[in-house]
Amino acid sequence: MNVTKKNQLLGAHMSIAGGVKNAILAGESIGCTALQLFTANNRQWNFNLICDEDAREFRECKAHSSIKFFMSHACYLINIGSPDKQIAAKSIKALIAELRRCEQLEIPYATFHPGACTTSTETSCIERIAGNLDEVLEATSETQCMLLLENTAGQGSNVGYTFEQLATIRSLAHHKRRLGVCFDTCHAFAAGYDFTTKEGYKAMWHSFDTIIGLEHLKALHMNDSKKGLDSRVDRHEHIGQGAIGNDAFSFIMNDPALLNIPKILETPKDADLQEDVMNMKTLRSLVH
Ligand code: ZN
Ligand code: MN
Ligand code: MN
Repeated sequence: MNVTKKNQLLGAHMSIAGGVKNAILAGESIGCTALQLFTANNRQWNFNLICDEDAREFRECKAHSSIKFFMSHACYLINIGSPDKQIAAKSIKALIAELRRCEQLEIPYATFHPGACTTSTETSCIERIAGNLDEVLEATSETQCMLLLENTAGQGSNVGYTFEQLATIRSLAHHKRRLGVCFDTCHAFAAGYDFTTKEGYKAMWHSFDTIIGLEHLKALHMNDSKKGLDSRVDRHEHIGQGAIGNDAFSFIMNDPALLNIPKILETPKDADLQEDVMNMKTLRSLVH
């Protein structure tokens, strides 16, 4: 497909309630061309595969879908940077299961939050993340799915809130081929990156490219922020209604360097999906 500013891949995170296939149907019903989903309950530990029947239905639905980009979001409980050996081991196991479910569903990307250092130091946490990623990627060497390190807001003891930290994790890990990055606008702003002016926007992406490399960016999470710059608090808001504002989203929607990067909303929503419709409309209206 020839991607233009008008038809760039855009969508939202969708619920899998009632079955994984329902996320596709929900996305299609509001005109998504990109989609994110959990492959299992996101607030429970889950080490299981999807049953063959559901996986086959999902793949069939996906093959005929108007949605062209799929990614999963790993379970929120996962912390492969934990200094607690039991939690780290459980997290490794859960992330391996996530990649295997993605393989079943033929989903090429899974984003996850790098980890939290809790009682340890950021430096040791980052080293554990890289080492544990090697274990996850080695155990799943037969799968195609790529893990995406998501930049965080730096809330609590979360690491991955600077480009330097994400780059260090990538450089310490040995299996970089299946290790990319997902950029979340709300998280970056809350972590202190001000891309609300043209100069700030250019400077931020220049630094992303220098430190991480733009070729490793595989997806964007499009969220405004309820909280201010450098607040280190992760609260998503509707596009244009938060502390980031429409200008920054207009820079993104019109940036030729990001044209081919799928853009996914994780903004507040109800079951009728009307907020997603509104936010997608806002983003499209910013294209000029
Ligand atoms: Zn996330
Ligand atoms: Mn996100
Ligand atoms: Mn968030």
